Amino acid sequence: MSKNLFSQTEALIFDKSRPGHKAYFLPESSIEKLDKKKIIPSHLIRKIEADLPEVSEIDVVRHFTHLSSKNFGVDTGFYPLGSCTMKYNPKLNENTARLPGFSWLHPYQPVETVQGALQLMYLLQISLAEILGMGKVTLQPAAGAHGELAGIKIIKAYHDSRGDTKRNKIIIPDAAHGTNPATATMAGYQAVEIKSTPEGDVDLDALRAAVGEDTAGLMLTNPSTLGLFERNITEVTKIVHEAGGLIYYDGANLNAIMGITRPGDMGFDVVHVNLHKTFSTPHGGGGPGAGPVGVKEFLAKFLPIPTVEYIAEKDIYVFNYDVPESIGRMKSFYGNFPVIVRAYTYIRALGADGLKKSSQYAVLNANYLKKLVEKHLHVEAPERFCMHEFICTPKNIYDTGVHTLDIAKRLIDYGYHPPTIYFPLIVEEAMMIEPTETEGIETLQEFAEVIGAIVNECKSDPEMVKSAPHTTYVKRVDEVKAAREPNLRYRRPIAE
Ligand SMILES: *Cc1c(COP(=O)(O)O)cnc(C)c1O
Repeated sequence: MSKNLFSQTEALIFDKSRPGHKAYFLPESSIEKLDKKKIIPSHLIRKIEADLPEVSEIDVVRHFTHLSSKNFGVDTGFYPLGSCTMKYNPKLNENTARLPGFSWLHPYQPVETVQGALQLMYLLQISLAEILGMGKVTLQPAAGAHGELAGIKIIKAYHDSRGDTKRNKIIIPDAAHGTNPATATMAGYQAVEIKSTPEGDVDLDALRAAVGEDTAGLMLTNPSTLGLFERNITEVTKIVHEAGGLIYYDGANLNAIMGITRPGDMGFDVVHVNLHKTFSTPHGGGGPGAGPVGVKEFLAKFLPIPTVEYIAEKDIYVFNYDVPESIGRMKSFYGNFPVIVRAYTYIRALGADGLKKSSQYAVLNANYLKKLVEKHLHVEAPERFCMHEFICTPKNIYDTGVHTLDIAKRLIDYGYHPPTIYFPLIVEEAMMIEPTETEGIETLQEFAEVIGAIVNECKSDPEMVKSAPHTTYVKRVDEVKAAREPNLRYRRPIAE
């Protein structure tokens, strides 16, 4: 590739900068005429001009359109990224989130002028409370892990309010999501891991042995990261409650149970759900998301402030800051509002029946795909009905020397986003596949056929699989280096 061609397609926007090019024309600013030194403190005034790219409008459009074509998204292909729920996000959600009455709000506007937004938040709180079987919901946390932190802080506030301060442990089954022990630790607790049985359920004897007067609570990811519904769930909640602990439900992916059963009915005290997973907000690349938390009525007084309330006598919606036992603020302002609008749109568009159907199809699709993949790869817990996702491994073809990472990379050549790999940690060489309810049968069949084709390649030409991907702009990257030494800053090359 000639250097010139490379610069046209691969160059950074900074490298395309040419003095004097610009993409906008603004009238002369009245501020420019003022004496900057009088209105801006001197230490805040730039000494040198900002080093921004100077490019024309067409350069900007081409640059970003080109970049977007290199990206992979749910709108371009099948994205079975287990635990992440990359379902199709209806475009209707975008229309409502962009309505000027929502998108042009300012968080400091007087509440009388944002009644529609508050009403929507209030109605989403009520809808989620109904779906989760909880008393009250906060929409404030910005992600699932953030919701977990809010939830565990609420559990801590509850024990503290009773003067019960010796409880310093949170019990977490080994099939939990990795954020659970991280959350417990961040909230100042000691995370105590308990093993799963060989069938993938919580080991009740181990749980009985672990609980005691120092148990603040238990965090359960259900369905577990093995894609299984915890069969002993009511027994688990009973054991922890009898020891005086509270029970937290990690409902990040509510996809398998929504409309069918409710964490509240199973005995859970606190639960979070990821709006960006279950309730369809685009979240590739890390956000923005929302991780609302629902609590039973007796914990409502600890929810983050402000809460959104409806005052029936006056028929107005308000922010309530007068919650003396609140854990405080979890986020500036009121949560990631556009995500809240998308989730509410999704719930209203599907209705109660639609939500239930989406769970049923998510589970049906996962079980169907599991059966098809089983012909080619080892699947975990083959005898059990899975929930919205399942785990497979290349255990049956270890003799080819090909690993999960290689199969994942080879899938890219076939036009698929790889599944989640090497997670959960309790399964060696795990591949976690979540097809979601929005995929049709043809996609699932084609994907399974491609898995079969790759397994054949592993046997006939393992080196080719191990050097995949072959069709992408970027080949294999050093993922450890990228994670440990991220280089996210542009530095202009020093002129010679
Ligand atoms: C995704 C996920 C989380 C974390 O959610 P974030 O929004 O990424 O912080 C927690 N638990 C489970 C089970 C998840 O799938």
